[in-house]
Amino acid sequence: MTDLYGLDLHTRDNGSSRVPLDILRTVFGHKEFRGPQAEIVSHVVAGGDAIVLMPTGGGKSACYQIPALCREGVGVVVSPLIALMHDQVAALRQVGIRAAALNSSLSDQERTEVRADLRAGRLDLIYVAPERLMLPSFLEFLDGARIALFAIDEAHCVSQWGHDFRPEYMKLEMLGERFPGVPRIALTATADPQTQQDIRRRLRLDNARMFLSSFDRPNIRYAITLKDEPRRQLLSFIAGAHKGESGIVYCLSRAKVEDTAAWLSIQGINALPYHAGLDAALRRRNQDAFLKTEGLVLVATIAFGMGIDKPDVRFVAHLDLPGSLEAYYQETGRAGRDGLPAETLLLYGMQDLVLRRRMIDDGEAPEDVKRVEQSKLEALLGICETAGCRRQALLSHFGETLAEPCGNCDGCLDPVETFDGTVAAQKAISAAVRTGQRYGVGHLIDVLLGVSNEKTVRQGHDSLPTFGIGKDFDRKEWSSIFRQLVVLGLMEVAHDSYGALRATEAARPILRGEKPVRLRRDKSSSLKRALKTAVKARAVDFASTLAPETARIFEALRAERSKLAKEQSVPPYVIFHDSTLIALASRKPRTLDDFTDIPGMGQKKIERYGAAVLAVLAAGAN
Ligand code: ADP
Ligand code: ZN
Repeated sequence: MTDLYGLDLHTRDNGSSRVPLDILRTVFGHKEFRGPQAEIVSHVVAGGDAIVLMPTGGGKSACYQIPALCREGVGVVVSPLIALMHDQVAALRQVGIRAAALNSSLSDQERTEVRADLRAGRLDLIYVAPERLMLPSFLEFLDGARIALFAIDEAHCVSQWGHDFRPEYMKLEMLGERFPGVPRIALTATADPQTQQDIRRRLRLDNARMFLSSFDRPNIRYAITLKDEPRRQLLSFIAGAHKGESGIVYCLSRAKVEDTAAWLSIQGINALPYHAGLDAALRRRNQDAFLKTEGLVLVATIAFGMGIDKPDVRFVAHLDLPGSLEAYYQETGRAGRDGLPAETLLLYGMQDLVLRRRMIDDGEAPEDVKRVEQSKLEALLGICETAGCRRQALLSHFGETLAEPCGNCDGCLDPVETFDGTVAAQKAISAAVRTGQRYGVGHLIDVLLGVSNEKTVRQGHDSLPTFGIGKDFDRKEWSSIFRQLVVLGLMEVAHDSYGALRATEAARPILRGEKPVRLRRDKSSSLKRALKTAVKARAVDFASTLAPETARIFEALRAERSKLAKEQSVPPYVIFHDSTLIALASRKPRTLDDFTDIPGMGQKKIERYGAAVLAVLAAGAN
């Protein structure tokens, strides 16, 4: 095992100091530390505890992997998900780090081997699930081992506040007492202050230094659009700019997941379903296919996601409204972990709002929790209806200020017009008031447009003064107006099964003409709009920005990577990230020495794959 994975790095006889930056360069093939990484690493190498809050893709792993290599002994990494461990271990082995995972999926023999390696000091990193770490037998075993550090990944799992609470995480509090002097580093991409506090308190990280990064993900493009013809919108989004790329499509219900996946397949897009109702084996197979196949679309409920470490997810689309802004940010955040451009699309409509409201109301949660959920939902709607930069609005919700509009969201790229909507708002609100505040948006629009149908006539609404006064807008425009009035707090959706719209107290000054309202003008064909954004997005699609010859070499390298990955049955990104392939394709190194400047090409990868890569490049040059 040592020979297979060992680097010179592991000649530890003199306990010589290994310099973090050298490890970053020779092992991982990265030139410089990014953001707070350098500071975190030196803090932990020196034995300090740390709490690290960094967005997905920010580079958390290096923060514990490098200190584990610098310090004597094995780094113990607590991670909640077995599937994730395997990939991480595979990726570490690729770069020559002696890593193993200890979990229930191992055979007895494999387990014995891992233990033997651990005892003999032949491991740099060991990944364990929290419940296994806490087994008395395992703790005793660790007592006799030399431990470099404890890394507690996905540390937000210790907090009941979040949605990923895992009771086993609570027990990790005793690590500090049982293993004094061993630094502990807790890491998460969940930022809210309540979770931060819980991590510090529950893991007894009283003296840990907190490293808080910006949560902005500049490489992700945000777009939010009215749900008009969702399937066609989705198709033009995928086929327009993301053909052949990996992506996730989120739907609310299992049935819709299945239908959408089947429909996409018929449209020639390689798509598979994933939801909690699928047979466990099939679910695993589909997840595995998503990780290992290039260019697969996974259509999923939110059951899919946490711990999806795939770095090259190029797009995330939501066909239904997520439950909160936090969920939206987390789900879209699964795109572009590798830092390359990625795109997101959220489709939403009034029906989504009504449905979400009802889900909260009908839920089991106590009243105060429901109120929090409602307000979280409203915060999300606020972002949907914002006329400005989405990223500014998003980050401000998370307590960060972005001084300038981002230039990489639909609000910035395709600004919406706003108009004086005071009169429109008055008409809409009086339609609700005059009809007794008991009707949903469809009927109110019928009244405004003066539609004589069974319901308007039966209720006598065709003789109201509001009947037919709204002909200056069409049906879609009115639904946009109603939605905005809800978001602005001027109307509310009743907590009944019809989704009746009612005027709120805040609507009074509007009706009396004392206060103006500005509304955004949603173009009535949002499909055209979605297409327009998708076409624009193509310009940032990284592969298509390459020169044709470079793109061809990129494809050839991709094929070689697939072959190598298959041989070892690991996901392709475990061999090389796309960014490495792009650098190879554009810089075309000619000798092994030229590889040192290529990101992601550490010593071990040069040894292993250098020759194969040079062969592809040489063939491509002809
Ligand atoms: P996280 O766990 O925070 O989501 P990862 O540790 O998986 O993020 O890192 C995300 C990506 O950034 C990976 O592709 C990784 O190789 C890359 N990365 C990490 N640190 C650096 C660095 N210092 N320079 C360049 N790339 C880096
Ligand atoms: Zn913007």
